[in-house]
Amino acid sequence: MAFTRLMPFVAATVALLVSAAAPSATAAPEVFHFRLANGLELVVVPDRRTPVVTHMIWYRVGAADEPPGKSGIAHFLEHLMFKGTAKNPAGRFSKTLAEIGGRENAFTSSDYTGYFQRTSREHLKTLMEFEADRMTGLVLTDDVVAPELKVVLEEWNQRVGNSPGARLGGQGRPAPFFQFY
Ligand SMILES: [Zn+2]
Repeated sequence: MAFTRLMPFVAATVALLVSAAAPSATAAPEVFHFRLANGLELVVVPDRRTPVVTHMIWYRVGAADEPPGKSGIAHFLEHLMFKGTAKNPAGRFSKTLAEIGGRENAFTSSDYTGYFQRTSREHLKTLMEFEADRMTGLVLTDDVVAPELKVVLEEWNQRVGNSPGARLGGQGRPAPFFQFY
């Protein structure tokens, strides 16, 4: 499928806001930034105000990487990342998050696509396991992809197609940067 061709160009960054110890009201935030042997870049920003963790993964791919005439593929793939894998069938990630009191979302921009979850901090390992699984194990068959395409096209109709202002805004940008949510 066309969108799977985007994946080899993806570089990923994991960002964490980790809550761990006593508060420090005035100190500048410590930031830990390092790279694993597999190329994954990690940024850890400790924030000790509450016992929660925000786990984000950013892929360095977005609407600007779409081929001419294929606007919307990056956003479409963002939706498809919420489909299942062989290990975790569709819905299990979101259901597990709901059960542990977490929240999640995702976003697509010109040059990145991001996913985030926020839970109490003891669940960080679980979040990482789910993200690692869908990074490589997404199962995209026609019966999964076709209905989601309708969802994405309907979002486009609501946010852009029916909005003269949004349509005009899109015309003002170079073609590769069109962004249709
Ligand atoms: Zn969307």
